[in-house]
Amino acid sequence: MEENRFLDPIERNEVTYESRLRPDNFSEYVGQKKIISNIEVMVESARIRQQPIDHFLLSGPPGLGKTSLAYLVAKELGVNLHVVSGPAVEKKGDLAAVLTNLQPRDVLFIDEIHRLHISIEEILYSAMEDFRLDILIGQGPSARTMQIEIPPFTLIGATTRSGLISNPLRDRFVAHLHFDFYSSEELALIIKENSKKLGLTVDEKALHHMSKCSRGTPRIANRILRRVRDFAVINKSTVINDQDVLNSLKLMDIDEAGLDRMDRKILSVIKDYYGGGPVGIDALSATLAEDRSTLEDVYEPFLLKEGFIIRTPRGREITQKATEHLI
Ligand code: ADP
Repeated sequence: MEENRFLDPIERNEVTYESRLRPDNFSEYVGQKKIISNIEVMVESARIRQQPIDHFLLSGPPGLGKTSLAYLVAKELGVNLHVVSGPAVEKKGDLAAVLTNLQPRDVLFIDEIHRLHISIEEILYSAMEDFRLDILIGQGPSARTMQIEIPPFTLIGATTRSGLISNPLRDRFVAHLHFDFYSSEELALIIKENSKKLGLTVDEKALHHMSKCSRGTPRIANRILRRVRDFAVINKSTVINDQDVLNSLKLMDIDEAGLDRMDRKILSVIKDYYGGGPVGIDALSATLAEDRSTLEDVYEPFLLKEGFIIRTPRGREITQKATEHLI
């Protein structure tokens, strides 16, 4: 991935900043109404039953609020949240250690769950279904299975690629909830709330401008807000205005449609190298020297949603809208 790509919605070193801005309760959680209604019912039912909430899977592009939602669920239930990243789990023992350390009704959040190695993922099957770990000890004819009870818990899986989740794992989630990009009205609301948390005042025009350029993604909205704030501080503006936003977006190389240099490069490569397409994802990834999964997870969803590219069985094509945008 291009270094310092500003619009990259994947979390970088901004954990502290982000945790300050996470919604504190369901009423602060903007949008995704369908998901929230589902979750509220599940949380209420679990509370009445005094049992863990059912396992569920959250899917959608990065930065749309999956982790924030897991925090809210744990908070509402008054239990601990344990956060694990799929690719960071290298051994079965790592996951077994996390599972055996849970308290009853705790929530385990596994981000990028589709990237768990299959042999590690298998541990989850009996853990999710029977709250039991089946551990194979030894090898060959003397091998035996040891069973360890674990406390009843909830697994929240998050993925940017739900199509890559194996069927046995997918089937063990009771609900599968898909995140959509946010509207600019919803993003404006999020920016407004977060600017209050940061002690900033933003005028309406600036708010509208920032929300329009945030690619439907709250994490990007937060990042733009932070850069705009830097501008305002230097310019000693007490109220952030549209000029602050314009100046910052220009420095960040973000255009009016919210596209950055890499987005425009993708569109230009399809247009100029491949005659507008169709082009297969592997050829595109080689030409751009960009990882295929990054193209698919990070860049493509927004370009597709905004109608800059379309996907056909023979590959990606750019649209008239993209051609006009590049002029
Ligand atoms: P994901 O887990 O999908 O990558 P996060 O939950 O980490 O995304 O969200 C990134 C940031 O965006 C959060 O820290 C929060 O400030 C903001 N955010 C995300 N979704 C919402 C929402 N629905 N309402 C308010 N803020 C949100």
